[in-house]
Amino acid sequence: MFPGSMGLDALKRDDGKSSANLLDVLSADPAKLRASLEEADAATLMLVLVQITGDRSLLARARPHISGPMNYHEKMPVELRSEIRMRLADALLDHARTGKALPPIPDGEDLREMLSIAVGEDVSADYVSMMREDLEAIQPDPRGLNWRHEPAPEKLAAFPVVIIGAGMSGVCAGIRLKEAGIPFSIIEKNSAVGGSWYENFYPGCGVDTPNHFYSYSFFLNHDWSHFFAKRDELWSYFEDATDRYAIREHIQFETEVVSADYDDASATWTVTTRTSDGRTEQLSAKSVISAVGVLNRPKLPDIPGRDTFAGVALHTAQWDAGLDLSGKTVVMIGTGASGQQVGPTIAPDVAQLTILQRSPHWVVPNPNYFAEVSDGMKWALAHIPSFARWYRFQLFWAFADGLHASLQVDPTWDDGGKSISQINARHRLYMERYLRAKLGEDSPLIEKVTPSYPPYGKRILIDNNWFDMLQRPNVELVTDQIAKIVPEGVVMADGRTIEADVLIYATGFQASKMLAPMKITGKQGRDLHQFWGPDDATAYLGTMVPEFPNFFILMGPNTGLAHGGNVIFITECQVRLILACLQEVLEGDAKAIDVRHKAHDDYVAEVDALHANMVWTHKGLTNWYRNDAGRVFALLPYRLVDYWKMTKDFRREDFLLS
Ligand code: NAP
Repeated sequence: MFPGSMGLDALKRDDGKSSANLLDVLSADPAKLRASLEEADAATLMLVLVQITGDRSLLARARPHISGPMNYHEKMPVELRSEIRMRLADALLDHARTGKALPPIPDGEDLREMLSIAVGEDVSADYVSMMREDLEAIQPDPRGLNWRHEPAPEKLAAFPVVIIGAGMSGVCAGIRLKEAGIPFSIIEKNSAVGGSWYENFYPGCGVDTPNHFYSYSFFLNHDWSHFFAKRDELWSYFEDATDRYAIREHIQFETEVVSADYDDASATWTVTTRTSDGRTEQLSAKSVISAVGVLNRPKLPDIPGRDTFAGVALHTAQWDAGLDLSGKTVVMIGTGASGQQVGPTIAPDVAQLTILQRSPHWVVPNPNYFAEVSDGMKWALAHIPSFARWYRFQLFWAFADGLHASLQVDPTWDDGGKSISQINARHRLYMERYLRAKLGEDSPLIEKVTPSYPPYGKRILIDNNWFDMLQRPNVELVTDQIAKIVPEGVVMADGRTIEADVLIYATGFQASKMLAPMKITGKQGRDLHQFWGPDDATAYLGTMVPEFPNFFILMGPNTGLAHGGNVIFITECQVRLILACLQEVLEGDAKAIDVRHKAHDDYVAEVDALHANMVWTHKGLTNWYRNDAGRVFALLPYRLVDYWKMTKDFRREDFLLS
């Protein structure tokens, strides 16, 4: 459509949730429109108003009042907020009545300026094309596979793909393959979809990236009950996506992939599976996509006597739904993301909770963490054109790329290792002030909970009443070393025995053994785990390993995010790259695509060089992102916008077609 002739409905992407005609909805209930606008953020509404009226004078007026991406406390003067809401309602109703054309979607410097004002910081031009992709609502979605020369049906039928895992990333890959008409099956070890969000249901389990960002770009949910949803709602979301795109019929549940072996001559993968009742089967595939995730094999600490404990012992990811903790004496080991959700949730019910902390995490407050999404906000997200996209960009900035600068080491900065740069030090100061305010200046807890390492060295956690919990009379935080586990509980290095009915391991996952225990062999029997060694997984763009043709890894090496971010965004980028690779094969004469050694090696060298100047390699810091040799194998060093571009711009010279 010629942009100048664009109407309101054209701005509404089919997000899979509601397809009612927007103009009808707006004109049917003007009172609802005005009431809803009262509950939606004025800064975000202002961006919509500028977009649909072209009146850029509002930007200059709003700019001084937007100092950060999240306008949590409505910092604009009341009169300006009212004017924005009134004018936006009038403009939308006018468009609904007259059907008149909208101005073209902003581009170039105009859009860059809007992005900057949206987040209260200077946003570079790099973000313009990414945001255009969100705002344009182009169908078909450019993030899917859009054939240049659609292959004959027989050719597609002869190219079956096996996806391993039906979690967030496997379902995403399935949706895109289905749209492209490429046949596939998904092998899932569990009896349901959702991966981590199915397996984890410990008390308090939820997400700490806001849902309006932590969701598929093509399947927005405008009905999240909270800004940060709990596990059941997240799991339902992935169930809904599976059904909305009819993926369930492709999934073989309760079946594990044991191995995948490539035959060079036929360019075919043989995938060996084992069902929960022990039957093995072999599937033939032209391509294999591993979507097994990294945080799915619980790590139990190597503490002497672990098996002697006489009470109930369980890992957060292997929770017992029937476990009743009321009145119990509980010891929890670990204070990472899982532990910080479990602790405050169970503390009110248990008789005594003793938390064994090896090292503290930085904790940050978020005004929306417990907040429900108002009905007006839900309505605005669903009905105001582009509102959900602008809001998503603000979240993207606040929880991802806007933080990237604070991860970079300033070599001239030296405060004894407490921070890595001026901006990083500012974050430290903010969080130190916060914890002191929560605990009181004289609290003996302050020393225990203040990390010695710089902010972002480990994942920063959103305060889930952690500090309030620590001040409960039935909670004790112990920071001494653990010596051993005995039948009655845990013995500390100073000889104290802490008795327990229940021992909770909030001790994380075996992340470094990627794709284990599967055996993957590529060209000429090359074994993936031998190539990687025990804990040094690498892949081109985190997705492809040389000599493993037509084999792709989702959530693979160096694709994780520890400063915030959104792994769904990363997955969608990876799926786009995979689709481009498959397109090369299926539109041409080749049978397989492989990444060149040089492209892989150069990429890994660049990743390592970037990490050498980032917070996760800070001296003395321990985290699960590094392997025994100290190499960061888990995390992406790039900004999300860089990774979006690198996976979008297919570099044919990096690949070998055979
Ligand atoms: P984690 O971040 O690896 O934390 C494990 C905790 O156990 C750490 O406090 C660690 O201490 C401690 N620990 C491990 N071994 C120990 C030992 N032998 N003795 C004493 N303490 C020991 O694991 P997690 O909390 O399950 O989180 C893993 C990842 O899952 C997170 O980084 C995040 O990406 C994701 N996650 C996200 C959410 C969310 O979105 N809200 C929730 C849960 C998990 P040290 O720090 O000293 O190693």
